[in-house]
Amino acid sequence: MKAILIKEPHKIEVTDIEMEQLKSEKDVLIKVKAGGICGSDMHGYHGTSPFINYPVVPGHEFAGLVTKVGEAVKNIKVGDHVSVDPVISCGECYACKSGRYNVCSDLKVRGVHVDGGFKEYVSIPEKACYKINENIPWEVACLVEPFTIASQSLSRGGINKNDIVFIAGAGAIGLTILLTAKSEGATVIISDISDAKLERAKAIGADYTINSLNTSLEAFIEAHEAIEGITLALDAVGHPSIIESILPSMLPTGRVVLLGFLKAPSNLIQMEVTKKELDIKGSRLSCNKFSVVVDCIEQGLFNPKKIISHTFDYTKVEEAIDLLVNRPDECCKVILNFETEV
Ligand SMILES: [Zn+2]
Ligand SMILES: [Zn+2]
Repeated sequence: MKAILIKEPHKIEVTDIEMEQLKSEKDVLIKVKAGGICGSDMHGYHGTSPFINYPVVPGHEFAGLVTKVGEAVKNIKVGDHVSVDPVISCGECYACKSGRYNVCSDLKVRGVHVDGGFKEYVSIPEKACYKINENIPWEVACLVEPFTIASQSLSRGGINKNDIVFIAGAGAIGLTILLTAKSEGATVIISDISDAKLERAKAIGADYTINSLNTSLEAFIEAHEAIEGITLALDAVGHPSIIESILPSMLPTGRVVLLGFLKAPSNLIQMEVTKKELDIKGSRLSCNKFSVVVDCIEQGLFNPKKIISHTFDYTKVEEAIDLLVNRPDECCKVILNFETEV
C-alpha cells in the first residue's frame, strides 16, 4: 500500500510500505479517505519539531471508512465512517486519572511521535474512533480534529454568547475558533498581519478584523464605542508580545487562553492579571471533544468547508507542501484526498 513519508527534513514522498494489518483485537482497520495538513505536519517537514523521529508518516487530521474490525470491537462496524482522535495517553498518570488525557505525562500524538494517518490503511483502537454520518463529505469528516482544538480552547475559556472574543491569528486554527465562537453567538474580533487572511476571516463571519501591523487592539477598542473591552481572548499565534498586548484590553473577570508553543519568555504585567482577576489558561489538543464537534457538524451549527482553501490528491503531496511553503497567504486548510486508487 501507499503512504506519505517524511524521510528526513525537507524530504517528503509517496512510497510503498507493507500493507497495514489490524494491530489488536480492539482495533479497527480504516481505509483513509481524506486528511488535513496542519502546522505540526509542516514542522515535521521543516525539521523544527523536537518530538519527531524520522522517517515518519505524518497526519493527525484524518477520516476514513472502516473495512475490518477486531474481535473485541463493540460499537464500530465495517462500513462506518470515522474520524480519529490522534492523542495516545497512558491512562495512569495524574492528568489521565484526572480525566485530562490530552496533557498526559507520556503523551503521544499520531503523525508526530508515532506514524500518523497519511497512508492508505491505518489500524486504530476503537476508542479513538468517532462515527460520523455517512452523508458528511470526507473532506469535512477529516476536519473534526482541528475543530476539537477550537472547541477545547473555547471551553477552557468558558465561552458564552455575551462574550466579546478576541482571536490573535487568522490562520486555520484561528478560523476554526472563529467559526465555533460564532456558533455560540459571541461577537468576534480577529487580528493578523495578512490582509488576505483577514478578508477570509471577514467572509466567514468575523464581526471585526484588525491588521496588527497598523492598529493595536487598544487603539481598535478606543475607536469602537460599542466595544468596552475583551472578555475572552485566544492567542493562536504564540508570539510572547501578544499576551502582553492583550492584557490591558481585557475587562475584569476576562479569560485569556494560550495555544502557542514557543519557548520565548513574555513580559506580562502581573498587576493586569491580579487587579482584574483574569484567568490565563493553556489549551492543548482536546479532551472529550470529538463527539461534541461531530454533533455540531451533523447539526450544521458551523460549516468546516469554509476553512478549506485547496484540495490535492495525496499523490501530489509535494505540490501541496510547496504551496504552503511558498504562498502561505493564499492557504488556509489544505486537504489531501486519498480516494484515488493508485
Ligand atoms: Zn492539526
Ligand atoms: Zn497519562
